[in-house]
Amino acid sequence: MNAIDLILAKRDGGRLTDEQIDWFIRSYTANEVVDEQASALLMAILFRGLDPEELARWTEQMIATGTRADLAGVGRPTVDKHSTGGVGDKVSLILCPLVAACGAAVPQTAGRGLGHTGGTLDKMETIPGWRSTLSPAEVMAIISSTGAVINAAGPDLAPADRKLYALRDITGTVESIPLIASSIMSKKIAEGTAALVLDVKVGTGAFMKHEAQARELAETMVGLGTAHGVRTMALLTQMDVPLGRTAGNALEVVESVATLAGGGPADLVELTLALAREMLDLAGLPDADPAAVLADGRAMDSWRAMVRAQGGDPAAALPRASEVEVVVAPASGTLSKLDAMGVGVAAWRLGAGRSRKEDAVSPVAGVVWRATVGDMVVAGQPLLELHLDDPTKLPSALAALQGAIEVSPTPVSPGPMILSRVD
Ligand code: URA
Repeated sequence: MNAIDLILAKRDGGRLTDEQIDWFIRSYTANEVVDEQASALLMAILFRGLDPEELARWTEQMIATGTRADLAGVGRPTVDKHSTGGVGDKVSLILCPLVAACGAAVPQTAGRGLGHTGGTLDKMETIPGWRSTLSPAEVMAIISSTGAVINAAGPDLAPADRKLYALRDITGTVESIPLIASSIMSKKIAEGTAALVLDVKVGTGAFMKHEAQARELAETMVGLGTAHGVRTMALLTQMDVPLGRTAGNALEVVESVATLAGGGPADLVELTLALAREMLDLAGLPDADPAAVLADGRAMDSWRAMVRAQGGDPAAALPRASEVEVVVAPASGTLSKLDAMGVGVAAWRLGAGRSRKEDAVSPVAGVVWRATVGDMVVAGQPLLELHLDDPTKLPSALAALQGAIEVSPTPVSPGPMILSRVD
């Protein structure tokens, strides 16, 4: 087998055979194909795509480079959620304990943020003592006792993806629907969940800027999950406006805890409950009432148990920024634009996110917005808080917000949170 044959076949619009796919995924993971050739193949795939049979084989081989966890022994139906990434998206922090408190088990394998989107692990790691790296035995023990775990992908979880994703990240080959779908689904299938709800974000702050693209990604991922025996569905949800009121690691934990305490912004509560209902449905628990479980404190109890089980102290004070810069509303009227990308890039530049995988993130940096689209504002009122611990980062964060805010003299209603579903 020769990598050049695969590159030429795909470059010229041909198909890869099963044997070629098996060989490439295995050999690249084993460092037997050089990055230059793998990059050329990925670029050819970005332009030419993979047909459904090629994609199924590609994904299956990615899973087969590691092991598929067996969670049959946890004693409850397993169900997970994956979001394609947005700004202010802290839903997992609330959803995992909530769905566990409703009777399911949530074996969440989470990632770190890259670029303007945040990562669940970076947020959870702002909790003193909390540990993301768990052995398979610890994962099993924690899910069996608390019903929810949030852990970092171990070395055995589709290791092909670790290499391929890192290469895609530096070769302009991330934005390919088959490559994104196989990357996400190989990890979620290998994690061992029996059911999966996908939150596919659409809008300026998302990977997918348009609904048609997002739908194609959602359909591709639902097809892959179903083909591997994982009951899978997707919601397409808006990401033109950032979610909730905060973007930044510790800031988002504080907002999540407020939501678990029965407060929290309406958009965050709406999306969390919609995803919880879908998860419980797929888990065979359609009569569970997540709104009641959130309101009466059971979800909060479940959060505390989940944090403690991973070494964290749910009562510990979270770190706070040494400086807060306020941006005021430019005019009076209705906030008609709060651009998710602008806010996400500002939070990132303040230090909440990383540019390269190896970068450290600031636990305290981020943005708080005191109003969202559809709210009335008065000229000069504090609209955004920029939290930071390194003042040299402020000018570039402020620059990211240029054009991100608009105020209209006439009323504006926010668009729907849930755009459509795919199952
Ligand atoms: N998230 C992933 O895990 N993989 C991708 O390719 C894109 C987003």
